[in-house]
Amino acid sequence: MLKVNDLVVQYGEAAALRGVSLSIEQGQTVSLIGSNGAGKSTLVKALMGMQPITAGTVEFLGENISATPATERPALGIALVPEGRRLFKDLTVQDNLMLGAHHPAARQRSGGDIQFVYDLFPVLGARRKQLAGTMSGGEQQMVALGRALISKPSLLILDEPSLGLAPIVVEEVFETIKRVTAEGVTVLLAEQNMQQALALSDHGYVLAEGTVVLEGSGMELLTSAQVREAYLGGA
Ligand code: ATP
Repeated sequence: MLKVNDLVVQYGEAAALRGVSLSIEQGQTVSLIGSNGAGKSTLVKALMGMQPITAGTVEFLGENISATPATERPALGIALVPEGRRLFKDLTVQDNLMLGAHHPAARQRSGGDIQFVYDLFPVLGARRKQLAGTMSGGEQQMVALGRALISKPSLLILDEPSLGLAPIVVEEVFETIKRVTAEGVTVLLAEQNMQQALALSDHGYVLAEGTVVLEGSGMELLTSAQVREAYLGGA
């Protein structure tokens, strides 16, 4: 479904991605892990068309979308849950969700259906009239996920959904993500929280200094001595 070939992204002279290749099959949950500054956010931005590509290609559903403007990518069926959630805190939960269907193509795909989001996350249905800013951190992440799902995307990209949240809320966020993956949605999950991300992933890529240094199934990476030593605090 998504194929990234030899992607290079530079900020001026500095290369943030130095030839990254990866692929995601339909229905898979794939995580992109790596420490702070490894290049995860840069890759997410490049996939969304928010960061120009220096070299390489991005193929989505068999088409080269490397030059497709950011404004047209949601229409192709790629939805992003941005880092920091970016909700409109003074709008209600329902209004925030509806913003996910703002683009005409997204609206057409969703057919105005918001009920499936409430079925998936009943707490959002119960609190649909509540201002998003008054929800807990975990619930706000649920709203951000719901807003992305409203457009019925083929690929859902999550950028650091657990960043800055207390450990107990992090657990809640991963439970929420599991509910989404269980629906068969194809997910790319960029995360520093490697253990939890890999635990729910079919496949994972480890990024370091702008290159893929390791890849494997979620289980292989979780049990890999190299990953454990470098990122998970030893064996
Ligand atoms: P984080 O978890 O902090 O988001 P990351 O893995 O997502 O880390 P990136 O944010 O993609 O990493 O950063 C990759 C590299 O590119 C880092 O060295 C970073 O300093 C650099 N970088 C990121 N954004 C910019 C920018 N706008 N201008 C210049 N350099 C940047």
